[in-house]
Formats: sequence, C-alpha cells, structure tokens
Amino acid sequence: MAMDEKTLKKGERYYKSGKVLWVVKHGSRLFSKILGTYPYYVELDLETGENSCTCPLGGDCKHVAAVMKAYENGFYFETFEGHAEIFPEAVAMEFLSEVPELALDVTLKELRFAVSTDESGSEVARLFRRALKLVALTGRKEALHVLEEVAEEYGHVFEDYELSLKLRDELRELEASL
Ligand SMILES: [Zn+2]
Repeated sequence: MAMDEKTLKKGERYYKSGKVLWVVKHGSRLFSKILGTYPYYVELDLETGENSCTCPLGGDCKHVAAVMKAYENGFYFETFEGHAEIFPEAVAMEFLSEVPELALDVTLKELRFAVSTDESGSEVARLFRRALKLVALTGRKEALHVLEEVAEEYGHVFEDYELSLKLRDELRELEASL
C-alpha cells in the first residue's frame, strides 16, 4: 500500500467525523461505504494491503485510510457469509436491522447527506421513512429535530411536490404518537 502521511491523516479525520457508514469484514477483506463528496465504496485486503475505492483516485486514498482507521477502532461487523463479497451492503443492513439504535444513526447520516446531494428527492424520502420507523422503534425523540430540519429543507427544495406534504404529515403523526 502506498499511502502518505497526509492521506492517512485525512482518513483519520474522515473516520472521526463519522463519514464511515459501515464496515463489513469477511476473512481478511474489508468492505465499506463512506460519505465523501459522493458515496464511495472501499474494498481492502488486510493481508496484502491491496485496495480499491470508487472515488476518482481508485484506491490508496483517504477513504481507504478512513476504513483502516475504523477497523483499528473496532468499528466493523464480522461476517462468515460468502455473499458479503458481492453484496456487502446487504450484509451491513442485516447487522444494522438487529441494532435499531445504530441503524437510526446510520440512517440519519445518510439522510443529511442525501438532502444536499439528492436531485430527485426520492432517496431523501426513502431514508426519511426508514428513519421514521426507526424512531418509532427506538423511541429516540431527539432524532425528531433532525427529521424536522430535513422536512423543512425538503419542502424548500421540492416545494411543488405532493410528497413533501406527505412526509411532513407522516412526521407529525409520529410526533403525536410518541
Ligand atoms: Zn477513495
């Protein structure tokens, strides 16, 4: 692996600011999703150091460094499922489904990210609804602030969408039920 000190430091900052969404470990290989300028996917072999990233650099980048940091800090799920090699995100979601608190954290991160990048509003709506269910499941009222902010911003960006009104109604319904 050819990574300079600067890249390693940037990776550490990425990890510490919560940009690493999840890491799945299968054998000696790590798979991860990182919220950079866009969502990026990293694969890394811990034994050989071989790695790849879907960012413009293609690997040996701050995203790979961030995944290494996450791993060093114990932030990963270990799986023995062979399909992790092909569908790591599905495996990560299976793990998260068993830890609703963590699933909510990850969903809120993705949601905040999607608000600033999603051009159609569809991804925001999907994540918003997942977050509503997870708030209902965990009873974590403090997450409602984030959802209110998102709903407001969504309303500004997609003001002519019926969907925008529906999401607000769904949020109010949840607030009334908690
Ligand atoms: Zn990268």
